[in-house]
Amino acid sequence: MRAPLGEIVLAHCLSCGFTFNRCFDPGLVDFKPGYDASLVYSDTFRSFLEDVAGRLIGEFGVHGKNVVEIGCGKGFFLRLLCERGENDGVGIDLTVVEECVEFAGSRRIQWIRDFFGERYETLHADFVCCLSVFEGNRKFRLRSRSKSACER
Ligand SMILES: [Zn+2]
Repeated sequence: MRAPLGEIVLAHCLSCGFTFNRCFDPGLVDFKPGYDASLVYSDTFRSFLEDVAGRLIGEFGVHGKNVVEIGCGKGFFLRLLCERGENDGVGIDLTVVEECVEFAGSRRIQWIRDFFGERYETLHADFVCCLSVFEGNRKFRLRSRSKSACER
């Protein structure tokens, strides 16, 4: 298996806890439909996501809402939030295999193959999540009331 190699220098933000590869070079990664960046093959990571989804739904009221996941990959986490929390979802990722709408019970999930950008500012979202695309798009900024100290 041949893959381009890059340098890894981990950095950790003491303000928000975000840990990232300071030397990540998005030019080395060919994000295209079907590219599999999923970490859910790890039982530990899958358990972590299930725990986070359960806490978001149970403790933070992400239930019956409109959820947007930026950089959804194959959609494991978004499906968890929608199926368990009876939420509608929109997943946006360059690697989405097929743009479509799927149904999880009475709830719908729309899959969009794209970078997140200004054209999606009008999406109605009660909750926006983004698990692991900050390194992939250095221009990525969410307009929010709070600003992370680790923005580069
Ligand atoms: Zn930070």
